[in-house]
Amino acid sequence: MKVVLASQNRHKLEEIQAILARYDMELVLEKDLGLSIDVEETGTTFEENSMLKAKAVMQATGLPTIADDSGLSVDVLGGEPGIYSARYGGDVCQSDRDRLELLLKNLRGVRAEERTARFVCVITLLYPDGRSIVARGTCEGVIAAEPRGTAGFGYDPVFYIPKTGRTFAEMGSEAKNAISHRANALRRLCQLIEAQDRL
Ligand code: IMP
Repeated sequence: MKVVLASQNRHKLEEIQAILARYDMELVLEKDLGLSIDVEETGTTFEENSMLKAKAVMQATGLPTIADDSGLSVDVLGGEPGIYSARYGGDVCQSDRDRLELLLKNLRGVRAEERTARFVCVITLLYPDGRSIVARGTCEGVIAAEPRGTAGFGYDPVFYIPKTGRTFAEMGSEAKNAISHRANALRRLCQLIEAQDRL
């Protein structure tokens, strides 16, 4: 079964394809179908935004579609930046580095034990007949006092996982992909696909 991934990111496709291969899914990117669909993320939750992306691409292609929405939720900031992680700071922040610096600034003076946070990822699989499967995965950590490591992207250099003694940016992609919010959401998606197949 051909399934579209609502994304332009081939790296993301490979990560998801590797896990979903056993379900006889051939995952393709929008651009493999000659499409580039810009979806306004007007939802107020990760679930709503991932469904908005899945719907737009499913309607354009007529094919089952997988979409994800993710972000970083920091407890002492009331869950911010949350669904706004990619746009934190608005126009003032032009890069991942600017957004990460803004986060550290907003946490200045906050003690280590109060810097708890989690990455969240919601993956939606939407079928043309309207059925959908929605899976959420999280990864718990704390926001470090300063950036460490050079791997990854986004907030990886400040996302520290105490039990590993490393930030996401200090892990190789293999170690990160074993425990990440995206991996956990994918594992959950697999469980839900299997549960549905049994109905
Ligand atoms: P999305 O593309 O709308 O899902 O936005 C995701 C945003 O959340 C990214 O631009 C990053 O700022 C942040 N984010 C999500 N997952 C990760 C991750 O694994 N590492 C670092 N930042 C992430």
